[in-house]
Amino acid sequence: MRLSRFFMPTLKEDPKEAQIASHRLMLRAGMVQQSSAGIYSWLPLGLMVLKNIEKIVREEQNKAGALEILMPTIQPADLWRESNRYDDYGKEMLRITDRHNREMLFGPTNEEQVTDIFRSNVKSYKDLPLNLYHIQWKFRDEVRPRFGIMRGREFLMKDAYSFDLDPEKSKIAYNRMFVAYLKTYARLGLQAIPLRADTGPIGGDLSHEFIILADTGESEVFYHKDILNLETPEEKERTPEELQAVVDEWTSYYAAADEMHKPEECTVAEGDLITRRGIEVGHIFHFGDKYSKAMGANVTGPDGKDVPVSMGSYGIGVSRLVGGIIESSHDENGIIWPEEISPFKVGLINLKSGDDACDTACDDLYAKLQNAGVDVLYDDTSDRAGGKFAKMDLIGLPWQVTIGPRGLKSGVVEFKNRATGVKEELSPEDALKRLAG
Ligand code: ATP
Ligand code: MG
Repeated sequence: MRLSRFFMPTLKEDPKEAQIASHRLMLRAGMVQQSSAGIYSWLPLGLMVLKNIEKIVREEQNKAGALEILMPTIQPADLWRESNRYDDYGKEMLRITDRHNREMLFGPTNEEQVTDIFRSNVKSYKDLPLNLYHIQWKFRDEVRPRFGIMRGREFLMKDAYSFDLDPEKSKIAYNRMFVAYLKTYARLGLQAIPLRADTGPIGGDLSHEFIILADTGESEVFYHKDILNLETPEEKERTPEELQAVVDEWTSYYAAADEMHKPEECTVAEGDLITRRGIEVGHIFHFGDKYSKAMGANVTGPDGKDVPVSMGSYGIGVSRLVGGIIESSHDENGIIWPEEISPFKVGLINLKSGDDACDTACDDLYAKLQNAGVDVLYDDTSDRAGGKFAKMDLIGLPWQVTIGPRGLKSGVVEFKNRATGVKEELSPEDALKRLAG
C-alpha cells in the first residue's frame, strides 16, 4: 500500500479527550474515529488490526472444536422474557420498537438466542457435545463509556456457547475453552491471567476472567506472583483428564478479581501476593441448566429421559483487545505491534521522494516485497523526513526500511526493528531476504 493512496488521518498532537495511552495512540494513528459516546468508526488501519485479532481468535476457537455461526444483532424481547432477563438487564440494554410495535433489543450477549437455536434443532444426547460461537457486535448502554474502544457501548465480542448432557461433561467443555484462551492470548503476544470471578448477570457456579496487567486497567486484581511463570500449554489434542490437569495447574495459584478477593480466604503469604490493575479481555462461565431449564432446551439422554442441556458461555472482547495490546506494547513514540497483529509487516520510507535514485530504489523494493507476499506500507509522500519517521514509529509496524540518497551511494538501506530500535545497514537484497524469510 502506498501511503499517498491510503487513508490514515494521523494527528500530530495528543487529543485532549484521551486519558490513556491506547486511546490516545489509536486516535493519533487514525485507527478509529468517535461517532458518539462509546461508539466508533473503524478506519482502515484500525480495521486491519481488528481483523487480525479476530482471525487468531477464530483459529483457536475452531481448533478447540467450536463451530462458527452468525447470530443477528437485533433480538426479540420475548426470548429474554423466557429467561427472565428482560427486566433484570436494566438500562444497559438498548430496547427498540419496530414499526409493528414489536419489542426488540440490540443484543448485549446471546445466551437466549443460541439456546433458542439449540432447542429448535437438537433433541438427543447423540448430537452432543456442541459448541457454537460467533464474532458479532454487541451493544451495552454503559453508564460511563470511556478509554476509547476499551469500554465502548458498541463493541465486538467473540462469544461461544457449549451444550452437553450433564454438568460433568460441560465442565470438560469449560476446561477446553480455558486452555484455548491461554493459547489465544499467548498468540496475541499477551500474558493473560485467569482469575476466579463473579458470574454477575450471566449466572452460574464457576467462572474465570482473563485479565492482562496494565496500570490503566479498570479492575483490581490479586494473584500469587508465581502464576506469571507458568508456561502456555503446547499445541496438542487433550483428553478430559489432561485438560483438567492444565486447568488445575493454572488455578493452583491464587488469582482473584477484586469482588472475589477475601483476605480471610486468601492464604498466600504476604510477600507472594501481588496487587495490581488489569484489563479484562475475556470471561468464561459455567452455568449448567440456568437457561435451558427456563427455556425448555431439553435433550433425551441414553436412559430415554429428557433433561435440560448443561451449558457454558465464553466471551472474548475482540475490540477491547486492540486497546489492551497497545496498553501492553507501546513506548513514548507510539505503538509497537506484535508481528501477527500488525496491519503491515514493514514500513518503507522514501527519504527523498522526487529524487530519481530514491524513487527507483524504493519502487523496486516495494514491488519485490509485494511479490514476496510481504505486507508493506510505502511512504511515497513528499513529507519531511522527520515527519515520516515519527509517523512510522507512531503506527508501530514491526520493521522499517529507510532509503535515502546517502545510503544508496554506498548501496545500503537502513533496516530498523521498531521494538528494540536497533538499526542495521543492509543491501536492498538482504533487507528483502530478511523480510520475506
Ligand atoms: P466488564 O467487567 O469489563 O464490564 P463484563 O464482565 O460486563 O465486562 P462480559 O459480559 O464478561 O463483560 O463480556 C465478555 C468480554 O467482552 C469482556 O471480558 C470484555 O473483554 C468485553 N467487554 C465487555 N464489556 C465491554 C465494553 N463495554 N467495551 C468493550 N469490551 C467489552
Ligand atoms: Mg466479565
